[in-house]
This record gives sequence, C-alpha cells and structure tokens, in this order.
Amino acid sequence: MVLGKKAVVTGATSGIGLCIATTLARHGADVVINGFGDVDRALKHFQNSPSNVLYHAADLRNPSEIEALMDFALSKMGGIDILVNNAGIQHVSPIESFPTEQWDAILAINLSAAFHTMRLAIPSMKSSNWGKIINIASVHGLVASANKSAYVAAKHGLVGLTKVAALELATTGITANAICPGWVRTDLVQKQIDARAKMEAVSTEQAAQRLLAEKQPSLQFTTPEQIAELVLFLCSPAADNIRGSTFNLDGGWTAQ
Ligand code: NAD
Repeated sequence: MVLGKKAVVTGATSGIGLCIATTLARHGADVVINGFGDVDRALKHFQNSPSNVLYHAADLRNPSEIEALMDFALSKMGGIDILVNNAGIQHVSPIESFPTEQWDAILAINLSAAFHTMRLAIPSMKSSNWGKIINIASVHGLVASANKSAYVAAKHGLVGLTKVAALELATTGITANAICPGWVRTDLVQKQIDARAKMEAVSTEQAAQRLLAEKQPSLQFTTPEQIAELVLFLCSPAADNIRGSTFNLDGGWTAQ
C-alpha cells in the first residue's frame, strides 16, 4: 500500500507523529521525519524498519526552514508522495491574557506550516499524479473549548485549508483529508493532565479520568496506533475518492 512511497511526517520525534512515521516505515515507505527533543531516541524506533528514514531539524515557525526541510526531502528521496502535517503545540489561557508570542507560534506551527509544506509538496505529487495529504487537525478543528483560542483557530483553519486543497486537486490522483482526534495521551496532553492534577490536588490518574469525563464519552484515550492505522487506510486505493473529509477519532466527543 505504501511500499516504495516517499513520505514526510512533521513533528515525528514523539507522540502521534512518531507512531505514524514508524507505521509508514514498517510498511516500506521511505520517511523524512522532523521535530525537536530526543532525536536519537526517536530514530531508535525505526531500527528494524526495512526503509530509509532521515531526520531534518527544521523549526516550523520559520518558512525558510520549512523550505529547507522540503528541499531535503525532495532531493534525498527523489520526490514526495505522502505528506503528514502533524506538528503541533498547545497553550491554555483566556484570550485577554493569552501571550501574543504563543498565539503567533501556534498559528505558525499548527496552521501556516501545513500551507508551506503543501505548496512545496504538491508539484512533486502532480508529476506522478499520486499523492496523499493528511493533516492531523483535532476535535478542536470542529468544536471549541474555552482557553484554547489559538489552538482552536489554527485547527479550524487547518480543516478549511484541507478542504480547499481537496477541491483544487479533486480531478487529480492527489487527495487531502484531515484527522480529528479527541484526547490522546501524549506529551502535549500529559502537560494538561499534570496541570489539572496540581490545580485540583488529585493524582495524575484521577486528573486524566476527569479530563476524559468532561469531553470524551468513551472515557478512553484514542491511541496513536489507531490514528496511524487510519493514515495507512487513507493511503490505500480504497480511500482514493475520499476528499476533503474529516475523520473524528474522539470517543464520541463531537457526537454530543
Ligand atoms: P507531541 O508534543 O508528542 O508532538 C508534537 C511534535 O511536534 C513533536 O515532535 C515536536 O518536536 C514537534 N514540534 C513542536 N514544535 C515544533 C516546531 N517549531 N518545529 C518542528 N516541530 C515541532 O504531541 P502530539 O499529541 O503527538 O501531537 C501531534 C499532533 O496531534 C498535533 O498537531 C496535535 O495538535 C494533534 N492532536 C493531539 C491530540 C492529543 O490529545 N494528544 C488531540 C488532537 C490533535
């Protein structure tokens, strides 16, 4: 399904992105990963994969570094077939006290970076008339929560951007879709669980359960593996006519 394909996964040094990248590599795709943190630890996850995996350190807040990342992917792999825009950050605060630098960073990483990677990958996808653009949005691309202004604005924007790309590419072999997870227990969410445990003076596990109970009716976290399997499906021929769609993996969050 993805054997021999060439993929870029942003924000793939931890969490959901790392799981998507390892899943694509395990199924035979060459992958360029990007992100911060413990890169050596991330690369160890690919030790047994049959494909080539390369790392680029681009800071996605900076369009010129995104250009360097995409040039690197195009030259090292000879093209880009699969683009997973996954990198994202969060900051929680009411609008009136939301730090403006956090607003700028969230919009740059969670939204503008996807515009830049898409504009730079689409010509390569057009040359082979095959491409899969998968944007990791969020339930917050569909509904809002208080204190997450920048994140909700960026994720709603990302869903809109995905729809525009799908329409512009509708008669080609290139599809664009968005995945909208609810709570997934990664570093990004663990910070929110820890903050809640401290504020409400409860254990981490009690805080995690309270977080779920508030929004996610299944009372279970979505797993990175469930998201990675959906990415694989979206790369399969069965998904060739799925265009501009949003896939909620949210335990019922947006059904309420
Ligand atoms: P995570 O913190 O584990 O991973 C985020 C990744 O983005 C890391 O690799 C990090 O290094 C990278 N990154 C951050 N800033 C960057 C920058 N300036 N340049 C390049 N890379 C950068 O978080 P996660 O939960 O795995 O999140 C992945 C995506 O899934 C995000 O877009 C997030 O909004 C989305 N999402 C997460 C959840 C959840 O509950 N965890 C729910 C819905 C959507």
